[in-house]
Amino acid sequence: MQNRKKLILLFVILTFFNVQSFAQAKDKIAKVVIDAGHGGTDPGAIGAKGQEKDVTLAVALQLGKLISENCKGVEVYYTRKTDVFIPLYTRSKIANDKHADLFISIHCNAAENKLARGTETFVMGLHKTTSNLDVARKENAAMLLEKDYKSNYGDFNPNSPESYVIFSLYTNAYLHNSALLASKVQRHLLKCNGFTDRGVQQAGFWVLHKVAMPSILIELGFISNKEDEAVLLNKDSQNAMAVSICNAFIEYKNQIEGTQIPLLAEKKVSKTVEKKVDIREENREEEKSVNSEEQTTSSSSANGLCFKVQVYASPKEIAVTDKKFDGIANVEKYCENEVWKYTVGSEPTFEKAQAIQKTLKEKFPDAFIIAFKDGAKIPISEARKLSN
Ligand SMILES: [Zn+2]
Repeated sequence: MQNRKKLILLFVILTFFNVQSFAQAKDKIAKVVIDAGHGGTDPGAIGAKGQEKDVTLAVALQLGKLISENCKGVEVYYTRKTDVFIPLYTRSKIANDKHADLFISIHCNAAENKLARGTETFVMGLHKTTSNLDVARKENAAMLLEKDYKSNYGDFNPNSPESYVIFSLYTNAYLHNSALLASKVQRHLLKCNGFTDRGVQQAGFWVLHKVAMPSILIELGFISNKEDEAVLLNKDSQNAMAVSICNAFIEYKNQIEGTQIPLLAEKKVSKTVEKKVDIREENREEEKSVNSEEQTTSSSSANGLCFKVQVYASPKEIAVTDKKFDGIANVEKYCENEVWKYTVGSEPTFEKAQAIQKTLKEKFPDAFIIAFKDGAKIPISEARKLSN
């Protein structure tokens, strides 16, 4: 009996020790793995004039170069440095084998709707909208190009929504740090490329799911959109975007380590491209209506009901990537009676929203829960009755 107790105690200590050593994001950023999406036989998304794999490689190499040159002591590793096919599981294995402190995956988006455009940065988690699931599906589908894909991914089928249930069991121990970096990347990238802000999002990416460190996946823009593509394929713009991501990295490193590495001079995408960006405005309204439809149908539960945590309100509109919301995923905004309101999460139950409210307590002590039915705000008491 005595021995058994000792054994249990030892087990508890070991478990605690393990959880602590694996789950805590380190306070030093000494190694970073940069992952250029796709490559070789996998072109990724295809635009009218170029391919995703070339854009991601150009930005990844430039980003790595900038980090090496400007952040002394940081080791930079790449999952690929040339146009080769690298399986998804190999990409995360490289990061884990190197015991990296950060994993940055670079991609471009594409959509059937040629008007869809903009920059978004993902952290690992369960998708809240069908459009987020679609992005994860597209990126995970790279595994289908592997010869023996079943032996590496088991029964996971990237195209089946049911497969994504496994991610609901996953707890992201690095969510805070990942979202912190993601917010910074969004802010710096948008300043540079002037694209539509699609925010910091969550979805089940195989490559992020497997890495044991804070990680993000950047969708620079839509290669399927003419104006985004022009920027994505432009060499100067690629370099400018790499500078922006590098600055986000420096800001993150400074915040975590308390260092004061100066930021690089940021560049905006080149003038000829900027002109084209202005033309996009004509299409803006059209895409907006597509987007808002997507939002209401996908972010609410089957009964059209959803609970959100309101964290901030202001008569002045600010971006969902504003510094205020650093480290928080799924920030949304809406306007009510000429006041802009900022919310986090979109949950099927009051209890789930409460759990989110708890995590935000320190930053937003006055946050409270609001409810929507079929996209319209309703009293919380009514919503709770409906959800029971
Ligand atoms: Zn991709």
